[in-house]
Amino acid sequence: MDLQYSVQQANSCGGVFQELIGKWPPRRDDMFARGKSLLPTMRLDPTRFTSDDLVHLALEIFLELDLPALLGVEVERLQRFILAVRSRMFDNPYHNWVHAFDVTQTVYALSLRTGTMSRLSAWEKFALLVGALCHDLEHPGVSSLFLEHAADLAPYFKGPVLEKHHALRAFEVMVDREIGILDGLNTVEYYEFRGNVSKAILATEIARHKDYISRMDEHLAGHQNTAPQDASKVEASHIDKQFEMEIMIKAADISNVLKPFSVAKRWAIRVTDEFFLQGDEEAARGLPKTPACDRETQSRVALQVGFIDFVCSPFYDRLAQIYPDIRDSVEQMQENRNMWAAYTDESLEAERSLCSSASGSLSIGVLTRALSL
Ligand SMILES: [Zn+2]
Repeated sequence: MDLQYSVQQANSCGGVFQELIGKWPPRRDDMFARGKSLLPTMRLDPTRFTSDDLVHLALEIFLELDLPALLGVEVERLQRFILAVRSRMFDNPYHNWVHAFDVTQTVYALSLRTGTMSRLSAWEKFALLVGALCHDLEHPGVSSLFLEHAADLAPYFKGPVLEKHHALRAFEVMVDREIGILDGLNTVEYYEFRGNVSKAILATEIARHKDYISRMDEHLAGHQNTAPQDASKVEASHIDKQFEMEIMIKAADISNVLKPFSVAKRWAIRVTDEFFLQGDEEAARGLPKTPACDRETQSRVALQVGFIDFVCSPFYDRLAQIYPDIRDSVEQMQENRNMWAAYTDESLEAERSLCSSASGSLSIGVLTRALSL
């Protein structure tokens, strides 16, 4: 993937634009069929597919919901949109095109199982999927805090800068003349859609995690009489649709831990690769150390166990109370937690060759150039 493109060029149209995003690739029918059958499940491992396979499978999610026909969005424009998103996902170990696809597929699978998809209008479904696809657009492979600490980047970064950036860029892509997937919306509808997508993307900021847990508690406290076995009662409880979209995208964004252990393990290696590269960069720049990113003191296994115990379990336990149909995924997470207990970093390292991690570089410079334009 060419990371050196100019964003100004990317915003222009015609031949240059097509050159930047590439052509819609030919489809490998065998891999497509395999992936398609897994789209509604939590068992799809996108690291086993090529980048081009994932482009086809991403489109298939929109087609399975019949969204192009329902919304009057030409499939060709949707294809260009998907290619443009892929071209703006950098080659980080974790925050790359594979993660963008993974979150989109997982939000699709979870929303089907929870019944969320059936409660959303066609444009809301579109907002949820587009938000998932774009939620890490142009991610530089380092945290917002790193960017805030980095003296030379400080003028550009304050607060949840990454999520704001992802949302802003998402709309630049969507309204591009060559893409225009929102052309069918009038002004009021456009701003409603923009609100849906932006709030969904901003919900993925991990600093707001506790806020969402509190809001889920408030929801559960307000529906104490709802029998947890009766999923249909969730619909009757009138969960706010925007809130529902936000917790679905959050659930998908940290969902590696809900996947079969072999899959969860690959993601764990990728994410800790990225953390440790950030730690190296912090050391090289003399910045404050982010504890989770220090390869000298941290264990990949301990990071996973801590992530499950302190971040994922509190969230998914509540999610499964609201949506009992996802309990098996929470059980998978607990099983993974037990599996990690039998692992060491050494045994994980021994399996690394099977895990085909992505490249070992971060994309901080690419994002900096983009913002300085
Ligand atoms: Zn993400």
